[in-house]
Amino acid sequence: MNVMLLGAAGAGKGTQATRIVDDYGLVHLSTGDILRKAVADGTPLGMEAKRYMDSGALVPDEVVIGLVKERISQPDAREKGVLFDGFPRTIPQAEALGTALADIGVALDVVVSIEVDPEAIVTRITSRRQCRGCGKIFNVATDGELEACTECGGEVYQRDDDTEQTVRARLEAYEEQTSKLIPYYSEHGTLHTVDGNQSPDAVYAGIRDILNGVG
Ligand code: AMP
Repeated sequence: MNVMLLGAAGAGKGTQATRIVDDYGLVHLSTGDILRKAVADGTPLGMEAKRYMDSGALVPDEVVIGLVKERISQPDAREKGVLFDGFPRTIPQAEALGTALADIGVALDVVVSIEVDPEAIVTRITSRRQCRGCGKIFNVATDGELEACTECGGEVYQRDDDTEQTVRARLEAYEEQTSKLIPYYSEHGTLHTVDGNQSPDAVYAGIRDILNGVG
């Protein structure tokens, strides 16, 4: 099964993605995670991507499309299926993905859009923290300020792009570009929506119902 999660920054894609890959055994393909790793490793790709990420802008299509094509062609992705998280974010990325999947004879089975009130997003993101080790996401409002991850003991940090100013730019990029994927996938795919304003457990219950109905 190949699954796509859509939703603005802070909609809860990362939190839900962790649960989905654990339960359904999918390969987690998060372009944000791949780019953050490249930045941390100081690779040329990371150095180029950082300029865009720090300002809340999207990294150029050709860069992310190349990363995704490489990942989906690996054997584990084809055997287990992929959870696309944070990709695509533009119509050209969606079109390139459609072609790349068709080339390897694979279908996109379901698209799940997590919808949240934009006003709630800035608060959610500025109070978000993440583990550098396993990627687990925390929120200071519910978890308090943690130094170490409750799962793996890794360092808990605030992403460089989780500041209020950058969040507003990311939301703008979502409105201008990524939101166009909702009508695109209602036409070209199997689009389902879940209400992301609920608790993470309730959102996940909605996603499970959708995924269990696929196939
Ligand atoms: P995320 O972790 O998905 O919130 O992504 C963090 C940042 O990485 C975004 O604000 C973009 O700068 C960049 N990024 C991640 N995925 C993409 C994508 N599919 N297209 C363009 N830029 C991306």
